[in-house]
Amino acid sequence: MSDCLFCGIVNGEIDANIVADDDHWVAFRDINPQAPTHILVIPKKHVATVNNLKAEDEVLVGELVRAAGQIANDEGIAEEGYRLVLNTNAGAGQSVFHIHLHLLGGRPLSWPAG
Ligand code: AMP
Repeated sequence: MSDCLFCGIVNGEIDANIVADDDHWVAFRDINPQAPTHILVIPKKHVATVNNLKAEDEVLVGELVRAAGQIANDEGIAEEGYRLVLNTNAGAGQSVFHIHLHLLGGRPLSWPAG
């Protein structure tokens, strides 16, 4: 069993409601949704936080963002608007230390975020 919860989802040890995936990323519904659409897009590669990204990860991060945009379209929230969030470290509320892009939408989203 992997030490990392999201690595466990990537390798199939832990169940998740997967909405899309490809060779480099997987997207699944957040278990504690904060909006009608709340999906996490994660790299299959383990990277703990944005602070740990390397130059070689630039394409991967682009893939995560592009996947989120495509999923927003598939979820029917692309036109009304949605938010992509990468919480980084405890001060920003990161609780799972495997980077994950939150895709939030389906309701009005106020700004600034809390
Ligand atoms: P963060 O607080 O930015 O690290 O976000 C972690 C997110 O992972 C939270 O929104 C949790 O609700 C979500 N989460 C934790 N465990 C699971 C799980 N097993 N399946 C889906 N989402 C999860």
